[in-house]
Amino acid sequence: MPKIISFDMDGTLVDPSFTDWVWMYGLPKLYAEKEGLPFEKAKLYVVSEYEKVGEGAIEWYDIQYWLRFFQLDHDWRSLLQTYVDKIHVYEEVDHLLDRLKDRYILILTSNAGKEFIEIEMKATGLGKYFQHVFSATSDFRMVKKTVDFYRHICEALCVNPQEIIHIGDHYEFDYLVPISIGIQAFFLDRSGKEKGEYVLHSLKELERKIISE
Ligand SMILES: [Mg+2]
Repeated sequence: MPKIISFDMDGTLVDPSFTDWVWMYGLPKLYAEKEGLPFEKAKLYVVSEYEKVGEGAIEWYDIQYWLRFFQLDHDWRSLLQTYVDKIHVYEEVDHLLDRLKDRYILILTSNAGKEFIEIEMKATGLGKYFQHVFSATSDFRMVKKTVDFYRHICEALCVNPQEIIHIGDHYEFDYLVPISIGIQAFFLDRSGKEKGEYVLHSLKELERKIISE
């Protein structure tokens, strides 16, 4: 019987627009101010430097790396805090976690850096539901939720994959990868296009799915 429920964060519990605000607006704006450049010009440059590093590199995810790289004398916390009003929890989340928390161990499994997780959990108040929080990039230096990422989690919690149910909005990293090692998983497709036993269109459908298993 599964006793642990694992949730992805961005796109699953929290609207992902916050991270875009930080990377595509906040950081370029700081750089524009430092260099006295128009915002659009600064953004083009900043994004071109992101692209050179690419999402396959651990630095891509590391806000402190980028503040150093652009020589911005700015604390990561205050940068993220500036856009905290852009953090929105999907409406069904609080109610669901509140109902599940006494029956399951709830964990958060994200590939966001720990800085983003910390601010998002604090701003939303969701942190109180999770007994463990795992960041692929900060805790395991992995850029994606690979098979090894899920194995590390099983080891850290001393459980078999069969004891975990994972839910997330990325078809490969939140569904195909976990099921490949025996973790039961559901793919959250908020667009409503995908169909199937393993698909959720909203987290409201999760409880019914778990109970009917
Ligand atoms: Mg996600």
